[in-house]
Amino acid sequence: MAKKLGYDDTPFLPDSKYRVHDPNRPQPRVVTPGEKSGEPPSDAIVLFDGTDLSKWVSSKDGGEAQWKVENGYLEVVPGTGNIQTKEHFGDCQLHLEWMAPAEAEGESQGRGNSGVFLMGLYEVQVLDCYDNPTYADGTTAAIYGQYPPLVNACRRPGEWQTYDIIWEAPRFEGEKLVRPAYLTVLHNGIVVHNHVALLGTTGHRRLPEYKPHPPVGPLMLQDHGNPVRFRNIWYRVLTGYDQE
Ligand code: MG
Repeated sequence: MAKKLGYDDTPFLPDSKYRVHDPNRPQPRVVTPGEKSGEPPSDAIVLFDGTDLSKWVSSKDGGEAQWKVENGYLEVVPGTGNIQTKEHFGDCQLHLEWMAPAEAEGESQGRGNSGVFLMGLYEVQVLDCYDNPTYADGTTAAIYGQYPPLVNACRRPGEWQTYDIIWEAPRFEGEKLVRPAYLTVLHNGIVVHNHVALLGTTGHRRLPEYKPHPPVGPLMLQDHGNPVRFRNIWYRVLTGYDQE
């Protein structure tokens, strides 16, 4: 007989079918972490492992993604347009690594600009802001046009940087927004957004706004004219507690 692990004479937790220390509460699923921090854990869905762009298409026409793959990374080919995943997904934990060109050319929004668009609509800015001032809500790791990062955690251009992003998609009922999107972002392991409620989709020189869209969407990477590199891109689907 299995050993009883909890108590069945304790009070029920508020809004829950489980008691405090409930022996029947489902065990958390076992996930094997990657060998090193940042490596995909056992339940990750890998979007780019350094070899090819088979999981990606051009955002323009849905055709083949035209960015360059070499030496384990992919690189923006300026002028070919944004690329996006074939797969569509909602709430997730996303990891990726990026590098701005070692040769820091241009200034403000013109230096190492790209972007990570959750569901193709909500941008976490990629930009080289190591000693490169620009407007605050367009800085590296800004939720573009809405929130500057809490701190500037940039490494030098030519060095790999990490984004770890926790994304909660907005919820709509018909035409109505019933819960905004939420973002938590770590840049190089440093919290730069802490569960912040987004004001809407990303725009340039306009107010963010919500328009109803499906509960899932593609991950999109931006061609902003600079040869920014990406590698080790994976996500995990985020579920609530007590999922079996
Ligand atoms: Mg950008």
